[in-house]
Amino acid sequence: MNDRKNDAWPPPAFDVTGKLGLVKFNPDGSSHLRIIDPEVCRKVCHQKFCTHSCPAQVYRWEPDEALITISFEGCLECGTCRSGGCPYANIEMRYPRGGFGVQYRFG
Ligand code: SF4
Ligand code: SF4
Repeated sequence: MNDRKNDAWPPPAFDVTGKLGLVKFNPDGSSHLRIIDPEVCRKVCHQKFCTHSCPAQVYRWEPDEALITISFEGCLECGTCRSGGCPYANIEMRYPRGGFGVQYRFG
């Protein structure tokens, strides 16, 4: 018999901010993300797609210096930036060493 007394409808709204609050980071000393050719960012990619596609807003365009800065410490390791987040395939993304990077907690 299916006991449905605990089923709530509609289900509670999915709270992304609350879920991200469960994430812990243990940043490595060096970046696991790298712009392969900064000239492509400067001269070819006018839309700076990575600054929009990364859910953690790791990439930031600095107009005065004409370069992308990378706040690798906040990377969620979702893989977006190496699977279409940069249409010029100009980002090298590796995973951090074991024990470093993001740690997801579920609850
Ligand atoms: S999307 Fe790719 S080419 Fe464009 S700014 Fe970002 S890293 Fe550079
Ligand atoms: S792996 Fe995901 S969170 Fe990390 S930099 Fe790439 S797009 Fe951003």
